[in-house]
Amino acid sequence: MELLKTAPKRAMAVTPHPDDCEGGCGGALAKWVKESGTVGSVVMCTSGNKGTGDREMTPDRLAATRQVEQRAASDLIGIDDVVFLAHPDGGLEDSELFRSQVTREIRRFKPDLILCIDPYRSTTHTHRDHRKSGQVALDAAFSYAWSYQHFPEQITEEGLEPHRVTQAFLWGSEEPDVFVDIEPYLDVKVDALGAHASQMSSTREERLERIKTNSSRHKEISGLDYAEGFRRITFNLGSLDWQLLHT
Ligand SMILES: [Zn+2]
Repeated sequence: MELLKTAPKRAMAVTPHPDDCEGGCGGALAKWVKESGTVGSVVMCTSGNKGTGDREMTPDRLAATRQVEQRAASDLIGIDDVVFLAHPDGGLEDSELFRSQVTREIRRFKPDLILCIDPYRSTTHTHRDHRKSGQVALDAAFSYAWSYQHFPEQITEEGLEPHRVTQAFLWGSEEPDVFVDIEPYLDVKVDALGAHASQMSSTREERLERIKTNSSRHKEISGLDYAEGFRRITFNLGSLDWQLLHT
């Protein structure tokens, strides 16, 4: 178990639906951006165009709404770089297209750290898009992005270069082993989630209470009142230098 005192220079969240990364790593991202100058990126894999109980809503209108909401949420966290891959909600596939897209974004943005949902669970289940996005994010970083041999047209035709991601932090893990103190950023997290207005039926107070409950779950392990917990994977793709911004 580690309480993280450092921050990545560049962090990329690969996230299935609008609002998932704010719930999973919004506090850590806000903290790193504001305290350490981390540059962040959000790769939004689906359009979230099925996330409504409103029978009058159309998928196209909802997708447009959710892009605006995602930009507003990312603004609050301090992230300008938001990429919409716009796969259909509930239809994410571990396809060559999707793998190439995530690989391209890694080569373009050059993150030290990727954040994604832990696709592996043994006692709980998670949404299909969550599993697919987590798996593809890990595969893009570990198997593809660093190698000239994979998706070579991105290098020969698009001017990108291979890139080695150092680590992945997986949120939603059953076995988190690294924790980030987010107590000063609870308000940012609740407001960033609130920016996804089409998905929110709760009040701000209710959301704050829910976030407090969730982020105190690992208090006995971490010793922190409010933390985001991640399972860390180190890729061992060459240099292990974690690009530290502060200690
Ligand atoms: Zn989701």
